[in-house]
Amino acid sequence: MEAINKHMSRRTFLTGAALTGATAAVSATGLVGCAAKASEANDTSTTSADTEQAPNIAIQAVKVGEAGEPVRECDYLVIGGGNCGMMSAAHAGSLGLSTILLEKSSVTGGSSVGTEVTMAFSDCKILQECVDDPNVVNVSRPSGSPADIYTYFMMHNSWESDAELVSNYVLNNHRQHDFLYEHGAYPMMLLPSLDSPACGIMYEGQGIGAFEIMQKAAEEYGVEIITSAPATALVVDDEGAVVGAMAEIDKTESYVKAKAVFVGTGGFSNNTEMIDRYIPGYGAMAWKNDAHLAHDGDGIRMMLGAGAVESDLSLAQPSASSVEGVTWDTPIDKAAREPYLWVNSIGRRLGNEKWSVMDTMFKVGIKENDHIYFNIIDSAAVERMATQPLMTNARTVLGSPDPVPEMADELEKGVADGSVFKGETIEELAEAAGIDVEGLKKTMSAYNEMAKAGEDTEFFKDPAALFAVDQPPFYAFRLIPSWYSTLCGVKINGKIQVVNAEGKPIPGLYAGGLDSGEFFKDNYNHGFSGGCSGYSYFTGFFAADKAKEYIEGK
Ligand SMILES: Cc1cc2nc3c(=O)[nH]c(=O)nc-3n(C[C@H](O)[C@H](O)[C@H](O)COP(=O)(O)OP(=O)(O)OC[C@H]3O[C@@H](n4cnc5c(N)ncnc54)[C@H](O)[C@@H]3O)c2cc1C
Repeated sequence: MEAINKHMSRRTFLTGAALTGATAAVSATGLVGCAAKASEANDTSTTSADTEQAPNIAIQAVKVGEAGEPVRECDYLVIGGGNCGMMSAAHAGSLGLSTILLEKSSVTGGSSVGTEVTMAFSDCKILQECVDDPNVVNVSRPSGSPADIYTYFMMHNSWESDAELVSNYVLNNHRQHDFLYEHGAYPMMLLPSLDSPACGIMYEGQGIGAFEIMQKAAEEYGVEIITSAPATALVVDDEGAVVGAMAEIDKTESYVKAKAVFVGTGGFSNNTEMIDRYIPGYGAMAWKNDAHLAHDGDGIRMMLGAGAVESDLSLAQPSASSVEGVTWDTPIDKAAREPYLWVNSIGRRLGNEKWSVMDTMFKVGIKENDHIYFNIIDSAAVERMATQPLMTNARTVLGSPDPVPEMADELEKGVADGSVFKGETIEELAEAAGIDVEGLKKTMSAYNEMAKAGEDTEFFKDPAALFAVDQPPFYAFRLIPSWYSTLCGVKINGKIQVVNAEGKPIPGLYAGGLDSGEFFKDNYNHGFSGGCSGYSYFTGFFAADKAKEYIEGK
């Protein structure tokens, strides 16, 4: 199986991603990649579909009469061999649809390489049948009712999500897990989401393990998987129905004819021009953890060129804040995300630090003018971290909250290499870190008074995490927000059909995962942990059902 190396641990991957992120961002294919060639070719073609209304990032669809003879034909064409694409292909194959999957990279897998947890609800067989297996770490709790989950999700997205899409997700989420389970996937951990009525499954082998089950199933059902084969444009008939795609197969521009097409190319987080356009500020300063993936915006651009419309392209999936250049889950990283006193460059406190896990502080941080903020600790905190369990903001499921006896030494190493700032006084610390001295002094004075009184009357932090920061020496960590990927693509409806500006389905076109929108209406909410891959699995799976109905004329 040509899948991503299953021995590549998430930690290795993340470290590598952090180290290579800058290079990858610079060399990202972006608008000059393979797909753009089709755009340029079609932009100059007098016989291509009408370009009048297409946004300028669109890769214009090719009219079927211009596509040439098909080199391959199938019922169902899947573009993108990541989480949603492989799930869709496997399920389509199981439904008896002749299916081809095109993958741009030389390996399949996409974001599965980073995925840890996938959302599930109590109605899935795994949560019912594996809970008592002593080999499965079970820290889950029963999920809420479908009504609870639906309401929670809609509330967290300001009731702006497509109601039918959310409802179908809630009602059908168990099916993709049942499919994986029936094809050999097994959980290693069942765990609750932070504060939502949902649960998560960590499969054996994590995201890659689940992905390999999908790919094996797809292969068993006869899906043809073609790697190093980027789709470059959609192909439409005279009525605007999507009837296949152009792709570079064996370095030759080829028409793959299909009765229905599913697009799941993973968003645009490697397309610097789209980032600057839709989420300015997320590019240069914030870290990306998927910088090695081919998230060039191809799918979104191709669908826009076939009549699709943008959903909320300004949304992203935040990751945790950390110190630039410091590897995750090392002592400095752990200390940096403990919920002590988080301030910005002018010394203003940012919020309830106990919620400094992922999305909340990401959103606060990304609003700062320079996207930078600081965590301030003192020597008492260092001693606490060396001897007591961390208050950990549990950024990673696998990160250990155990005390770090060597913390003081590690911080000194950080001071020496410049990743940690130190001062014997607040003034000295502020100057070393580049924080406004008077602003920080004022904030610390007020914060320490609240800590001594045992009540955070400002942001209501849990008293168990409210410690005075007043014992020299002081340390500061300069944090920058990080993010995994973009979150939304083109508008889809509850049947995973891509819709046009009038809200009508574009016949034959389905989109899922990070290429689709109308599910998330806010940055990813980590209270809904695992919801991102869960959504990808769902869109892929459900689209295959709906495409089969379409193909059969139902
Ligand atoms: C480091 C990391 C950790 C994560 N952890 C979690 C987690 O624990 N829980 C969770 O729920 N979510 C998590 N996510 C998010 C989740 O993995 C993604 O939201 C989801 O998997 C996206 O699925 P997708 O199918 O849309 O994209 P992907 O899985 O990335 O697949 C897209 C595929 O399309 C291919 N492609 C691109 N362009 C073309 C083209 N022109 N032609 C053909 N193929 C193309 C790409 O190469 C890629 O293989 C994480 C993401 C990352 C990066």
